[in-house]
Amino acid sequence: AVLRVGLTGGIGSGKSSVASRLVQRGAVLIDSDRLAREVVAPGTDGLAEIVAAFSDRVLDADGALDRAALGALVFDDEAARRQLEAITHPRVRARAAELAAGAAPDAIVVNDVPLLVEVGLAPTYHLVVVVQTEVATRLERLTRSRGMSRAEAERRIAAQADDERRRAAADVVLTNDAELADLHGSVDALWHDRLVPYEVNLRQRRA
Ligand code: ATP
Repeated sequence: AVLRVGLTGGIGSGKSSVASRLVQRGAVLIDSDRLAREVVAPGTDGLAEIVAAFSDRVLDADGALDRAALGALVFDDEAARRQLEAITHPRVRARAAELAAGAAPDAIVVNDVPLLVEVGLAPTYHLVVVVQTEVATRLERLTRSRGMSRAEAERRIAAQADDERRRAAADVVLTNDAELADLHGSVDALWHDRLVPYEVNLRQRRA
């Protein structure tokens, strides 16, 4: 019995920053981006299915997945993107569930899921935490720290759910428009005031 927390927010909102602070406090992190890479690593049946669906044009010279090539194939092709997600999403979810099941009984497990709201996963968590940051600030951070072009950052932001939809699915909203130290303060308060008591409560009810 573990407390499962879903963490989401728009691209560049600060999900990774919140996740690492929660890990510092003692959370166990399940990073969906990492799992998404693992389930299509060389030798996996995930990669084999992708090749069966999209041909070996999506492989690079080493036989690994060529993300840019695959991205170009599914970009602007809704059916292809759905086909790809039908291969990857169930595998990522199964692996995440496996990791959560293997965590200590009193663990607070945080799952960082960029498309949590878009994919309708909110009901699978005890608590959904949304990180919310002004679009202008996200654009600034993405172009400065990630070397992303402004047009690319704008395109990616436009492709995601808007903040209003995310807020509607959220149990907790953390805003990240100020200094990193402020964000850390909000995360620490979330940890002590909500997550730890929730976890204790869960365990008592199950005892
Ligand atoms: P992605 O959706 O791309 O994975 P993310 O939501 O995980 O992004 P982060 O990687 O945490 O976002 O933050 C984006 C960038 O902005 C990082 O370089 C991070 O260090 C920086 N950043 C986050 N919060 C702040 C802040 N309050 N002040 C200044 N920089 C910040």
